[in-house]
Amino acid sequence: MHPIHIIGAGLAGSEAAYQAARQGVPVILYEMRPIRQTPAHQTDRMAELVCSNSLKTDQEGAAPWLLKEELRRLDSLLLRAAEIARVPGGHALTVDRVVFAQEVTRAIAAEPLIELRREEVHNVPEDRITIIASGPLTSDTLATEIGRLTGSGRLFFYDSISPIVEADSIDMTIAFRASRYGKSLDGTDDYINCPFDRDQYERFLDALLAGQSVPAHITEDQTPYFEACLPIEELARRGRETLRFGPMKPVGLVDPRSGRRPYAVVQLRQENLRADSYNLVGFQNHLRFAEQARIMRMIPGLERAEFVRFGQIHRNTYINSPALLTSTLQLRLNPDVFFAGQISGVEGYVESIATGLVAGRFAADLAQGRLPRALPRETAIGSLLHYISAADPSDYQPANITFDLLPALDDAAKQKFRRDKRARHAEVCRRAIESMDRFLEAHATV
Ligand SMILES: Cc1cc2nc3c(=O)[nH]c(=O)nc-3n(C[C@H](O)[C@H](O)[C@H](O)COP(=O)(O)OP(=O)(O)OC[C@H]3O[C@@H](n4cnc5c(N)ncnc54)[C@H](O)[C@@H]3O)c2cc1C
Repeated sequence: MHPIHIIGAGLAGSEAAYQAARQGVPVILYEMRPIRQTPAHQTDRMAELVCSNSLKTDQEGAAPWLLKEELRRLDSLLLRAAEIARVPGGHALTVDRVVFAQEVTRAIAAEPLIELRREEVHNVPEDRITIIASGPLTSDTLATEIGRLTGSGRLFFYDSISPIVEADSIDMTIAFRASRYGKSLDGTDDYINCPFDRDQYERFLDALLAGQSVPAHITEDQTPYFEACLPIEELARRGRETLRFGPMKPVGLVDPRSGRRPYAVVQLRQENLRADSYNLVGFQNHLRFAEQARIMRMIPGLERAEFVRFGQIHRNTYINSPALLTSTLQLRLNPDVFFAGQISGVEGYVESIATGLVAGRFAADLAQGRLPRALPRETAIGSLLHYISAADPSDYQPANITFDLLPALDDAAKQKFRRDKRARHAEVCRRAIESMDRFLEAHATV
């Protein structure tokens, strides 16, 4: 059997290699460190955690817990290593990063079907099964090669993420539905608009200017922001009117309650494919999460907003996956090429591990002459894969796992748990685990 080639022995690549090998398929795993370092890695170990040592909450009933629980059921090497490396961290699965990476490195070295090659890959072999898992800090030559493989304009180098809020936490007695100049795409008034009067705008601006930013992850990274996706606090620094002529412009909108054009507006757009959530259009920012919550709740109508995700801007190499990948992480133009990890358009350690795990399984299926076995949509992993491959490619943003990526409950369940969010989430988790168990049972003998 021909070996699978995996580029990058980070979180996704290590997990993918292990999974493919456990299915009896030989793997050649390429890692450029220590010959060539990235701006964030410090060691030559596999699965090095480059920043925080937390794999997020492990509290039963939370979306990040569900993702980890599914990975445990799928026999994830990295989740096992995390258990061994676990240090006290409250509800979070927090690890000793050295022990964690050592444990993964040891397990990969002990796997007879995996050959580790310490070299930088420049070209993607298109005639062999390959998993590209070279991460957010993919080396320059490989990035150029991926750009060629995926076509122009489908490889991004910077992430600019706007905050997302839960729909039912928006105060619709203040906010109103409308599209600029009444130009709705489907006649349903596409946006929710939060109207400001002058005083509210001035107070919001003062808070934004005084807000604390997140320190840069990679200090030597001097890459300037793209002008098209400047953080709102940077826009605010350019002049007190800049936001009012940019993402907060009120033109073409009339508040039905006052009958007048507001002084400024924040527009909220329904998230494509995410149930029940809205993003704040053009509100990417670099503020600390606690600061974001405090300042964004000064927006009229968002006083009690619940945040599904906070805004961020950081260096990140990723592809426009919905335009390129199938739900089994294969390049539509060449099904022998898979993507996994952050470069495949997910965000976060555990999400990278998850896409690595399934890419390893899918690639092993293909190497053994089978069609890759897709995961059920009701599972957290199935939902991540659905998002990666089916979100709107015109404005694609990488995602963490959250409940709004999972399919909504049916009407009866929604009705039953309508006043109890925790019970609703518990039901989504129960459905996901049951579905994963059925999937595992059905494929136990394969
Ligand atoms: C600075 C930074 C901080 C982050 N902090 C967090 C955080 O705190 N929490 C969180 O959940 N997520 C964080 N992330 C996001 C993400 O979860 C991590 O980057 C995660 O490591 C991604 O896993 P991965 O497997 O896709 O990539 P990586 O773990 O980076 O693995 C990719 C591997 O590919 C190798 N490689 C690259 N190019 C080549 C090549 N041409 N040939 C051979 N090998 C190559 C690299 O050396 C690396 O080992 C952070 C990202 C960055 C950039």
